[in-house]
Amino acid sequence: MSDPMNFIGGEWTRSSGAATLDVHEPATGRVIGAIVDSTQQDVDRAVAAAREAFDHGAWGKTSALERSRLLLRLGTLIERDAARLAEIEARDTGKPASVARADIVALARYFEFYGAAADKLHGETVPYLNGYFVTVTPEPHGVTGHILPWNYPAQMFGRTLAPALAVGNATVLKPAEDACATALALADLVGEAGFPAGSVNIVTGSGAGAGAMLAAHHGVDFVSFTGSPEVGQIIQKLCADHFITCTLELGGKSPQIVFADADLDAAIPVIVKAITQNSGQTCSAGSRILIERSAYDTVVERLKAAFAAVRVGPPEADVECGPIITAKQQRRVEGFIAQAKADGIPVLAQGTIAPEAPEGGYYVAPTLFGPTPRDNVIAREEVFGPVLVAMPFEDEEDAVALANGTEYGLVAAVWTRDGGRQMRLAKRVRTGQMFVNCYGAGAGIELPFGGSGKSGHGREKGFAALHDFSKTKTTVFNHG
Ligand code: NAD
Repeated sequence: MSDPMNFIGGEWTRSSGAATLDVHEPATGRVIGAIVDSTQQDVDRAVAAAREAFDHGAWGKTSALERSRLLLRLGTLIERDAARLAEIEARDTGKPASVARADIVALARYFEFYGAAADKLHGETVPYLNGYFVTVTPEPHGVTGHILPWNYPAQMFGRTLAPALAVGNATVLKPAEDACATALALADLVGEAGFPAGSVNIVTGSGAGAGAMLAAHHGVDFVSFTGSPEVGQIIQKLCADHFITCTLELGGKSPQIVFADADLDAAIPVIVKAITQNSGQTCSAGSRILIERSAYDTVVERLKAAFAAVRVGPPEADVECGPIITAKQQRRVEGFIAQAKADGIPVLAQGTIAPEAPEGGYYVAPTLFGPTPRDNVIAREEVFGPVLVAMPFEDEEDAVALANGTEYGLVAAVWTRDGGRQMRLAKRVRTGQMFVNCYGAGAGIELPFGGSGKSGHGREKGFAALHDFSKTKTTVFNHG
């Protein structure tokens, strides 16, 4: 990695301070570089650059068509550099190489989708009193702050920045301190695509430092946050202090509900992938499997075999599961597993750590628990690791109660051949996204995504994100 720097006003910028944070490689645990731990002055500078770009600079004057072209051009540059970006992402996060490549494809697609949408955001007219003409139009918030997690750094860059830019906001992004490399590599492409100075600014640093400074900044008009519920609450309070709103995407404890009539050949591989993909470090991971009691033994036998076949290793081994992002997260996941064992919940199956996995890397074997008591912490709380809990249910009513029985509400799936039951569960399960005989929350850039309760609020992806990144203006013309 090169010298630690921020990207502010279209230029690589040194920090006003000297503090840096080490970057660790998850596959080996080794230190491979350092990033700026931004100061208040650095964050002030980035927000001022965005303010200037929006209020007086070239960015505030761009037409929707120009924004569309800029976003599309950035998408094309990402595709051109996809192999290089995927390598950076895999090294920084420990993701299997093929997963990192898929993430870069998704990143480019965000710029393609929102680039194509930027000049199709229409307002409307409203019939009003005689002699008046009323328009209702979407307007950008102004300066938007983006605080990112480390689990999908590349995808999140596109998910949050592309719709914000499509609407015309000037942006300040703080990537997670544990995974900044891809966002920093993308800054050069932002410049090459021709985005005006100050439209995209990137400041690195700790959450309690740069993250909090950004959310609290009076020059910021809206915040988009993805991360833990605890920090989500802090962000919402910081935003309330200066009367702005935010979107919070905070994770889940998403249920996969399997009825006895389910097509298990289709369901089992999808269910296993939904919790082992990205080593379970996915807000939409399917982390609970709820099984109709009459089919419990059959489903669990199939799951055990599939789980035991999952291998864990470094990116280049390109196995199903990479390491956990940091030593701290590894300890957290292992803590949940140890506690569940201590509580007497049986381990039904575990994946294997491949011999290629280097000493010192943050590897955790995927673990299947069951039958798990409903009130146990591992049945209710997000582990954010490759840990699946199996729980039997009695009937449809019980399945709905169990599915809705956590504080989260992000994603759910039902596996059944019964059409009426599909419709009833789709309606009754409290969730932002519902999948019927499938599961794929990570995909589908076109599909609105977000939760309720402890999963947060607001919607990303699809046209819904364009609404969240804009505010409505009503204009009343008196033409006598
Ligand atoms: P976190 O919430 O601490 O960090 C997410 C982002 O918020 C990072 O950029 C971080 O720097 C920033 N941040 C942290 N404290 C902040 C503060 N006080 N003010 C402003 N910004 C702040 O998440 P973590 O510690 O990296 O992970 C802990 C848990 O969070 C995980 O185990 C998982 O349960 C959850 N998580 C969820 C998602 C998701 O996609 N929903 C992503 C990452 C982590």
